[in-house]
Amino acid sequence: MRKQYLHLSTYHCDACDGPVVAGSLAVRENEISKETDIREVGAICLSCGHRQSSATAPARARHLLPMEWAPTDTIKASHLTAAFVEALNRADLH
Ligand SMILES: [Zn+2]
Repeated sequence: MRKQYLHLSTYHCDACDGPVVAGSLAVRENEISKETDIREVGAICLSCGHRQSSATAPARARHLLPMEWAPTDTIKASHLTAAFVEALNRADLH
């Protein structure tokens, strides 16, 4: 069964050394298939709001366990992505 997963990873911010959280969405056609349709949905430092899209070497990103992120019939994946980016943008204001 086709499922969508949200992947979150964290790494240090170059600007303030705070925690950056980065998210991506991927689709699995069934339990044993590889993930496809991988889309970055945003990255932001929780401390200063810096948008850093990847970890700076030698530091590495730490990956959280993927979680199922099911689009409903009425909310398409693209809208979920937009909502997630909007949430990150709101976090930017604080
Ligand atoms: Zn920062």
